[in-house]
Amino acid sequence: MKIGVLALQGDFAEHIVTLKRLGVETAEVRLPRQLDDLDGLILPGGESTTIAKLAIAFGLMEPLRIFAREKAIWGTCAGAILLSKDAKRDQPLLGLMDITVERNAFGRQVDSFEVDLDIPELKAATATQAPYHAVFIRAPLIESVSGSARSLSQLADGRIVAALQGKLLATSFHPELTPDDRFHEYFLSLAR
Ligand code: GLN
Repeated sequence: MKIGVLALQGDFAEHIVTLKRLGVETAEVRLPRQLDDLDGLILPGGESTTIAKLAIAFGLMEPLRIFAREKAIWGTCAGAILLSKDAKRDQPLLGLMDITVERNAFGRQVDSFEVDLDIPELKAATATQAPYHAVFIRAPLIESVSGSARSLSQLADGRIVAALQGKLLATSFHPELTPDDRFHEYFLSLAR
């Protein structure tokens, strides 16, 4: 099992640390050929416009879309924005998931927050019952899911913060910033 992390901008290093902790072979991805031998790819948090501009400059947009036809991709925060079909503003997107996102939906950097989430799928996949402690940093909201995408987790008020479409996973929050590895384990089960 080898998982790549798109390493153009953002907190890719934290994802690599978590993956290594789980005993997985990892690779930093900056060029299309580095996708060749991967079983899955993580798009990290950061700034979605910056990551997309760099992905265009590195010729990665179309190779990433082709990769997604067979392999698992997980976008955290800015990565989730890149996976979406619609971010309600003019910016380059991969457009792979039938989700509409609202960037910075919770306000500015100082409005970042942490909350315990109930994620039934995660509990089932990892055979644990503890709630999932999620870190939101200037996070996007998954405003709506359509087509074959479905919600995996909502806040108490019903707003969607995680979605799944086949092997494509989007989370508004940052599992790589906590010691709880269950979300990475869940992604590995999608990539397997
Ligand atoms: N605010 C960033 C964006 O809109 C995402 C923030 C993050 O990835 N933590 O791209």
